[in-house]
Amino acid sequence: MTKDIATPIRTKEILAKHGFTFKKSLGQNFLIDPNVLRNIVDVASLTPQSGAIEIGPGIGALTEQLARQAKRVVAFEIDQRLIPVLRETLAPYENVTVINEDVLKADVKQVIATTFEEGQDLMVVANLPYYVTTPILMKLLEAKLPVRGIVVMIQAEVADRIAAKPGTKEYGSLSIAAQYYATAELAVKVPKTVFVPQPNVDSAVLRLTIREKPPVTVADEEWLFAIVRASFANRRKTILNNLIHNLVGKERKDEAVLALAEAGIDPSRRGETLTIEEFANLSEQLQKR
Ligand code: SAM
Repeated sequence: MTKDIATPIRTKEILAKHGFTFKKSLGQNFLIDPNVLRNIVDVASLTPQSGAIEIGPGIGALTEQLARQAKRVVAFEIDQRLIPVLRETLAPYENVTVINEDVLKADVKQVIATTFEEGQDLMVVANLPYYVTTPILMKLLEAKLPVRGIVVMIQAEVADRIAAKPGTKEYGSLSIAAQYYATAELAVKVPKTVFVPQPNVDSAVLRLTIREKPPVTVADEEWLFAIVRASFANRRKTILNNLIHNLVGKERKDEAVLALAEAGIDPSRRGETLTIEEFANLSEQLQKR
């Protein structure tokens, strides 16, 4: 087996050889601890038959670990300067394909269809660029990709918000949006020292397991999420005031009051106390116009 890319010495050598300079604007914080990388891969529970989809391979530190565990790996990297580096570092792994594309613009579903076999066990595994954590996760979830789950290293604070339960200060529209599509667990917290350069914030590994079906059934998912967003727009306001000011308007106050009553929700409660089931009830009661 070749020496791990992620050792501090080898990473330094690779960066120096290619004269690579980090772009902060692309969230480039590379992992230099093979144990942390193996932990991330363990959390994904890959089998030799699995396929892995990576976002932001960097110089290939995580890609290499995935290539050793999975049958096939496809990785999206936005930074064109890293493509020749990856060609070299990942040369020993024939089961890896790198795509030089912004994952937010890529047709991930199409790439999955052309890269993997139908019904193959698939996982997204990534050390995400922190400046776009939420858009990337929401894109992957909303696309309803045929994957078992998503294991990502992200900012600890965002991981806490995604996995938060009702009634906590971290609970918000992001928790509900993510938990509509998946169950969320915080796997491990990771210190800044395992990255080069070190990020300003603490990190954590989050595991999302995709649900077979959503925990609630609503006629219109977009309407549900519009209500959720409106309900959290001002955390100090009651649910009723948030609905009036951010969704239905003053002229429909009576309708909002009635819908809350029909859904069995006290209008003086705050959004952060409502479960997804309560939001779903509310979404069915409050007619879209
Ligand atoms: N996987 C490597 C590691 O763990 O050492 C690098 C992780 S680094 C936190 C994030 C990587 O994502 C960088 O390589 C960066 O260039 C890439 N990246 C940033 N924005 C991206 C985007 N929109 N689409 C694809 N890759 C992106």
